Amino acid sequence: MTTTTDTETDTDLNHRDRAIRALSGERYAEAGDAYTLAAYGGLSGLDGRRREAFDPDDAGWVGYPLASLFLAGVCYRLAGSDDRARNRAGQGILVAGDQREHVLVHPVDRAACHEWTGDLRTVAGDADRATAAYDRAADAYADAAPDSPAEATTRPLLQSNTDAVLQLSRPDDLDWGDLHGTDGSDALARRVRFKRSRLRSLLATRADDGRLFAPRGSTEYGVDAFRCPDCGARDVNYVAETVLCLRCNGVVDRA
Ligand SMILES: [Zn+2]
Repeated sequence: MTTTTDTETDTDLNHRDRAIRALSGERYAEAGDAYTLAAYGGLSGLDGRRREAFDPDDAGWVGYPLASLFLAGVCYRLAGSDDRARNRAGQGILVAGDQREHVLVHPVDRAACHEWTGDLRTVAGDADRATAAYDRAADAYADAAPDSPAEATTRPLLQSNTDAVLQLSRPDDLDWGDLHGTDGSDALARRVRFKRSRLRSLLATRADDGRLFAPRGSTEYGVDAFRCPDCGARDVNYVAETVLCLRCNGVVDRA
């Protein structure tokens, strides 16, 4: 295995992976910048999943850039830059509104834009307008009435959102059932209720801890080859082409 420094390796990484590396170093302003650039690159189809925001064949994949703007906002809040957090949330709200009015056709996707707006308003600290957006999302999901609400949550616009919320919940990982209920029959209504009642406190917990964890990549437990220099754990998260501690999010060393 070739050994390189973080700096050398970082230049080869996409912006999302750079953001995750910054999270592992608790460099939140840098992570906010990298997530912002991941969003811009993602919207133009030049970064991440390489799907253009206005291409009807790629409808809904705009959720991943929206997730990057959402996470950028969280990172700036952790960095103490509330104005930049509101700015990134505001950009996401504008993108979601344009998608809803001019790009997306499927009623579930258009409803999900209201949900995204609620989440981004929550990051911006605008609770009343978040609640109003969640009300619109709940009504629009009810009108859309997909045959399988659980399956609808796997649409990219919703899956990207679930991924971002699960990342916020780490290290006390929530799972899909926590957001949607175990049988999935009421999944869309439940996820809106979850957001309305829990997203603010999830964000507050991140702010109190002063830490946002990396998303779960592939994970492995009790790995002899690795040991976390900070907490001693051998449970690891393979993500952003590095190995992070599953317990404390630091970079682990080879034992
Ligand atoms: Zn650790």
